[in-house]
Amino acid sequence: MRLQFTAAEEAFRQEVRAFVRAKLPADIKRKVELGLRLEHADYLTWFNLLEERGWLTPGWPPEHGGPGWNHVQRYIFDEETLLAGAPRIIASGIQMLGPVLIAFGTPDQKARYLPDIRASRTWWAQGFSEPGAGSDLAAVRTTAVLEPDGKHFVVNGHKVWTSYAQWCSMMFALVRTDPTAAKPQEGISFLLIDMKSPGLTVRPIRMLEGGTDLNECFLDNVRVPVENLVGELHKGWSYGKYLLGHERTGIAGIGSCKQQLARARQLAAQQGLADDALLQARLAQFEVELIALEATALRLLAPGQGSRTPAVEASMLKVRGTELRQAIYETLVDIAGPDALPFSTEAQFLEHLDEAAVAPELTAVAANCLDARKVSIYGGTNEVQRNLIARATLEVY
Ligand SMILES: Cc1cc2nc3c(=O)[nH]c(=O)nc-3n(C[C@H](O)[C@H](O)[C@H](O)COP(=O)(O)OP(=O)(O)OC[C@H]3O[C@@H](n4cnc5c(N)ncnc54)[C@H](O)[C@@H]3O)c2cc1C
Repeated sequence: MRLQFTAAEEAFRQEVRAFVRAKLPADIKRKVELGLRLEHADYLTWFNLLEERGWLTPGWPPEHGGPGWNHVQRYIFDEETLLAGAPRIIASGIQMLGPVLIAFGTPDQKARYLPDIRASRTWWAQGFSEPGAGSDLAAVRTTAVLEPDGKHFVVNGHKVWTSYAQWCSMMFALVRTDPTAAKPQEGISFLLIDMKSPGLTVRPIRMLEGGTDLNECFLDNVRVPVENLVGELHKGWSYGKYLLGHERTGIAGIGSCKQQLARARQLAAQQGLADDALLQARLAQFEVELIALEATALRLLAPGQGSRTPAVEASMLKVRGTELRQAIYETLVDIAGPDALPFSTEAQFLEHLDEAAVAPELTAVAANCLDARKVSIYGGTNEVQRNLIARATLEVY
């Protein structure tokens, strides 16, 4: 099997590289390279530049504004943009809700919501997880009861770990519409909820590294128009599963691993550790593991392998990619040594960088390492991914 890119794919890589070099604002690039915190405006600026070029929604079909790329082009695009210091595309509306609405939404829902997602006018929160319903998502308890006139649902419940809810004006949520269904999966529906609705409260959760991008959302008698139901009543579980398939694919984060490995080499040189044999061996080991991970990813993208990443392979890539990323971040802390200790949440913003007690390159190293604990949890924890792999490959249960 050939694991090399074709001339056309290499030309595409150059096109992406040239675009990022010309368009990515220098201050955003610097924040990403130093691991500093990005603000909503940073994401919006970059997303709007991508949308102008028609590149913001690679997973969408061309008739809805996608660029019509195949999986290899999408892989190259992710890698090149991340390596060049561009922000990751994190918006749930683009990556998760868009494909669901395109596949299952009404014509009115598509016309109403898709253009606003592409223009980044609306950011969507993913309201799936609840206390007691994370890995076991079918246990969601938030209820949606149809009013007698059939025009509104009344929603009550508590969502948790809602990423970026503080920037979102809409939420897509899994809600229980039939508590008496024989199987828990059969009584769930997929609802679109306006986050400005009376009765909906967002409360930030303070994260390990000091950020507040995770939230709890409380829904107290929130009224949702019936036209905001996606697909059929009680069939939300299948739309949710379709959505999670889209969530898991890019999660191996090979581009991010490469970017952080380059950062580790740069920091090692800066800290006078370029000749440290043990450190160099550790970095070389990461390099080898990264090449193996990439070869696995490319084998799945190779012609004849179909156009999608099968679920079990996606799980394998996720487990290995996230473990590797965490190990590289831990090494960055070791490279920084005692300089990783001074910690200031404020100094993780570009405008406060001069308040940091250490060199700019070291300011966010510890915070990034703590933040990276999350990558093996979201999108389905690695323990659960291992169960999926075991079930598919060993047929043990
Ligand atoms: C940074 C971040 C962002 C997130 N963003 C969102 C978001 O925007 N919207 C949203 O809806 N959710 C979001 N989540 C939630 C995420 O999907 C859940 O955290 C995840 O599914 C795990 O669920 P849990 O936290 O309830 O843990 P639990 O399911 O309670 O698991 C706790 C521990 O038990 C283990 N475990 C559970 N079941 C099994 C099993 N069967 N076999 C072996 N081990 C098991 C888990 O692996 C884990 O170690 C986010 C999470 C994080 C960390």
